[in-house]
Amino acid sequence: LASQELEALRARIDELEDDQVKQFTKFEELPLTKGTLKGLKESSYVTMTDIQRDTIHLALKGHDLLGAAKTGSGKTLAFLIPVIEKLIHENWNEFDGVGALIISPTRELAMQIYEVLLKIGKYSSFSAGLVIGGKDYSFEKDRIGKMNILIGTPGRLLQHMDQSATLNLDNLQMLVLDEADRILDLGFKKTLDDIVCNLPPERQTLLFSATQTKSVQDLARLSLVSPKYVNTSSDA
Ligand code: ADP
Ligand code: MG
Repeated sequence: LASQELEALRARIDELEDDQVKQFTKFEELPLTKGTLKGLKESSYVTMTDIQRDTIHLALKGHDLLGAAKTGSGKTLAFLIPVIEKLIHENWNEFDGVGALIISPTRELAMQIYEVLLKIGKYSSFSAGLVIGGKDYSFEKDRIGKMNILIGTPGRLLQHMDQSATLNLDNLQMLVLDEADRILDLGFKKTLDDIVCNLPPERQTLLFSATQTKSVQDLARLSLVSPKYVNTSSDA
């Protein structure tokens, strides 16, 4: 990204006010890079959902956040857009290693995230990979060293962190915990704690969940720094 273009985007992000963003309806109103806007448009993503409108600008500003919104409300784009934008802003390249780590409860959900990422990230040059088991371990191990964005399930990720010298997370810019309530329901609390505690503390962390349970709050306390809280499912 040309430095002038980046400066202009950064200025627009800094100026964004919550009140102003509340009036936004379309992705193109947000200060996003041209490539991402094109990827969104070509994937027929035009109008933002509530959780997308309420969280993306906060994530672009660099805040940690906890976003709660019911299943089907569009949480995937709420984190994938900030992940892609962050790496573009940082001029991330193939030699910088893993810049973003996305943790998902199941293989199926991880694969869905990966597919959306390929679509909307079509015009950015990042490599992305799945770390979900199922494929043979050494195949994953050889590939993860070259990835910029990793999407994985907790057990398999921790296994690689413990055993694969190829997995270097020292440069990590962003951590996403997706469907956090489900990750915890599946019994991954300890695994998740072990992963989070071994990541660079300077990173930005986005935590998304369908529900806000006590255990999700505990996880938020462990993994987020001065977070913004967004809850679009409070219609109860
Ligand atoms: P959640 O993670 O909150 O359960 P998803 O991110 O899986 O929700 O999105 C649910 C469905 O809504 C998906 O089929 C997705 O393609 C679609 N979707 C998400 N955001 C938008 C949008 N802004 N415009 C149109 N469809 C969207
Ligand atoms: Mg989801």
